Amino acid sequence: GADLELRQITKTFPGFTAIDQLDLTIPAGSFFALLGPSGCGKTTTLRLVAGLEEPTSGRVVIGGRDVTTTKPHERPVNTVFQSYALFPHMTVQGNVEFGLRRRGAKDAAGRAAEALRLVQLDHLAARRPSQLSGGQQQRVALARAIVNRPALLLLDEPLGALDLKLRREMQLELKAIQAEVGLTFLHVTHDQEEAMTMADTVAVMNHGRIEQMGSPQELYELPRTAFVANFLGQSNLLTGDVVSSSDDATVVDVAGSRIAVPTARAQRTSGTVTVGVRPEKLLLVTDEPKAKTGVNVIGPGRITDTSFAGVSTQYVVEFPENPALPAVTVFAQNLVFGSTLNPGAEVWVTWSADH
Ligand code: ADP
Ligand code: MG
Repeated sequence: GADLELRQITKTFPGFTAIDQLDLTIPAGSFFALLGPSGCGKTTTLRLVAGLEEPTSGRVVIGGRDVTTTKPHERPVNTVFQSYALFPHMTVQGNVEFGLRRRGAKDAAGRAAEALRLVQLDHLAARRPSQLSGGQQQRVALARAIVNRPALLLLDEPLGALDLKLRREMQLELKAIQAEVGLTFLHVTHDQEEAMTMADTVAVMNHGRIEQMGSPQELYELPRTAFVANFLGQSNLLTGDVVSSSDDATVVDVAGSRIAVPTARAQRTSGTVTVGVRPEKLLLVTDEPKAKTGVNVIGPGRITDTSFAGVSTQYVVEFPENPALPAVTVFAQNLVFGSTLNPGAEVWVTWSADH
């Protein structure tokens, strides 16, 4: 695989900026996910890398070579789309060989067989696409895209057409295939779980810009913006004013409750700030907790909604006695049978100040 660099890429369509001064470096051999909502510019970014769009300004560099003005078929790049676009009249083997043969490559049959083995379809090489399931067709498309060993493989929501269970299986398989072939994968998706499961590095895109980039864990634990916090899972966002800040803890007044956060995780330690805490970090208690250092408490509140999800229950808690507090969402593990709380129950929400 080769590394990819996008340097200050801007792409405008008449009256609309789709990509806004994008800077991105993807190391060779990595599995990189570009994650963002529909319309944020993911496909446009891939098309710029593939050479199907020309940037309004900026450079595309692959493996140290500036390819900004290089024709698509001369770039060391292949793309897998959501639609497989296989040739219906050819066998699976024929589909995978096709590109190699057209370029007069040596041992097209052997190399196609090897690619089909990688995607575990060697036993179906003689079939036609219409005789395969959706997941199998997608694997053929993948085999066809890796058979000539491009330096960079672009995947544009390739699993979007598959049902949930198959999509989960294919996520793990794609990751295994990437590790085996060692190509650089640039995978585009709007599915946060998909990005987090598969990628070494995730870039969160919003309105044509990268809002934050990092390992899945970094993005989840230390989102820099409310958009990232809520796009990767769910978050409770509590806004208030900083009342004190030491090396250890920064204390925020949220609607009269004192909320402490680790200063090491704070982006700002003065003024009006938003504190984010994940629903699974929160605990519900039915007796008012005694004041304890290192523990945040808000309440009393009332459970207004519960939804049972097997391993956990999702609760919504509102604070009618303190309407300035927003409703919070709590995910509680169901460890004991019959331990769930009912709507209407009076509760306090607590969590460790480490969170
Ligand atoms: P995503 O793949 O993240 O859903 P796209 O990259 O397809 O988003 O599109 C980003 C934005 O650019 C969208 O608002 C889309 O309507 C716009 N756009 C994409 N291609 C064109 C085009 N050829 N002409 C005008 N606008 C376009
Ligand atoms: Mg798209």
